[in-house]
Amino acid sequence: MTVESVAIAAYLVAALLFIMSLAGLSKHETAKQGIWFGIGGMAIALVATIALALWGPHDGMSSLAVTLMFVAILIGAAIGLWRARVVQMTGMPELIALLHSFVGLAAVLVAWSGYYTVEALGDAQTEVSTDLLGIHHGEVVVGLFIGGVTFTGSIVAYLKLSAKIKSAPMMLPGKNALNIGALVVFVVLTVLFVMNPNVWILVAATVLALLLGWHLVASIGGGDMPVVVSMLNSYSGWAAAASGFLLGNNLLIVTGALVGSSGAYLSYIMCEAMNRSFISVIAGGFGIEVAPSEDTEYGEHHEITAEDTAALLADAKSVIITPGYGMAVAQAQYPVAELTRELRERGVEVRFGIHPVAGRLPGHMNVLLAEAKVPYDIVLEMDEINDDFPSTDVVLVIGANDTVNPAAEEDPASPIAGMPVLRVWEAKDVIVFKRSMAVGYAGVQNPLFFRDNTSMLFGDAKDRVEDILKAL
Ligand code: NDP
Repeated sequence: MTVESVAIAAYLVAALLFIMSLAGLSKHETAKQGIWFGIGGMAIALVATIALALWGPHDGMSSLAVTLMFVAILIGAAIGLWRARVVQMTGMPELIALLHSFVGLAAVLVAWSGYYTVEALGDAQTEVSTDLLGIHHGEVVVGLFIGGVTFTGSIVAYLKLSAKIKSAPMMLPGKNALNIGALVVFVVLTVLFVMNPNVWILVAATVLALLLGWHLVASIGGGDMPVVVSMLNSYSGWAAAASGFLLGNNLLIVTGALVGSSGAYLSYIMCEAMNRSFISVIAGGFGIEVAPSEDTEYGEHHEITAEDTAALLADAKSVIITPGYGMAVAQAQYPVAELTRELRERGVEVRFGIHPVAGRLPGHMNVLLAEAKVPYDIVLEMDEINDDFPSTDVVLVIGANDTVNPAAEEDPASPIAGMPVLRVWEAKDVIVFKRSMAVGYAGVQNPLFFRDNTSMLFGDAKDRVEDILKAL
């Protein structure tokens, strides 16, 4: 039994564990188990890869290389553990975007290293047989391209999600022609490189991929960012798979394909949920025109106190809570769960309406509510609850904004037009918890705040819910 055969068996086990992990993650009840399968698979994969590097058929790894490998693993593990421990739930999406950028960067580096260990040596000196050389040339450019697009695209997503740059779409003139042109140039460069693997062609492809990734994500507006994040997740999978081909590592190919295809499917589901064209979003907002500037007069808004809100709730028969990103920022899920218990004990029917893109991650609100032990059976998806608002007494909009914006249904010129929203305004009374009249992530004003049946309860959502609990 060689180290290689044991490693191949270990890779197979790891691949199975990754599949079981994905299956586990698809349900609340089994999500934790899914995470453990993933950790187990990754641990096996790491040990097998290190063993292969140390004792596998490609011996000749110098002691300097071995030391460097362990130092890199230790530094990476330490930074990873530290970041994962300190990250707030609201900082999770930007951390994930940043991690995707590392996958992209790794794929670019693997492609360049592929070039230096094969193409740069000249046909006569490589270990790759002449028949397969053309395929290797192709793998180098394709891997580099997917990696490059993922790298800069993820950095822009990180900057947008962490509000370091504006979330509004960048509108270069002829942006669609630029994107399509870049793809055509990439195909031409690939053909040229396969015919004659010249280093300058690779340099051009790298620059092109980096620029295209930046432009694709920068062109997408706030409301469509959820799809972009899951799409970059998918790209990072394909980038890893491309590296797997170059490195001859089957596990990387399998894992990359799993991440790539599940990310693509998630992007598709999110596009369906948001009534967006999948092709338009992956093509950098293809077909989306500039919205006219806003000069609408919305009128006056009304304010309410926590005490008056408590009185409304005490008299209500049915209440729906629609949480959003602000609930995550305020960490208001615990007092919200407490308020739910209190009202249910008084015989009020309380349910939650969850928009598919509420918060900054798919399932963000579900995770927070589960953490605060809100029973799953009263947490409903948007489609399950959207027809119930007219028969509801009070809706508590806790830190949500874009996901309850009537402009999405009523104003065709709005940047979020066509996106399905929770029709909270159909209820008898709507209380909006937020700190100011500021806009939500998509950067558009919300006419809901100015409706006659809407009252604003200003302040930090956690403090205000605690005030209501006291008043009750
Ligand atoms: P929004 O981001 O539209 O709005 C959140 C609101 O919460 C803000 O208006 C803010 O108002 C308020 N808020 C912030 N902090 C607090 C606080 N401490 N207490 C009370 N209120 C607070 O939230 P939604 O969840 O409705 O919408 C999500 C948006 O994010 C959508 O546009 C979606 O497309 C996008 N997105 C979603 C992703 C996903 O996968 N779910 C990923 C990336 C983007 P104020 O400042 O006045 O307090």
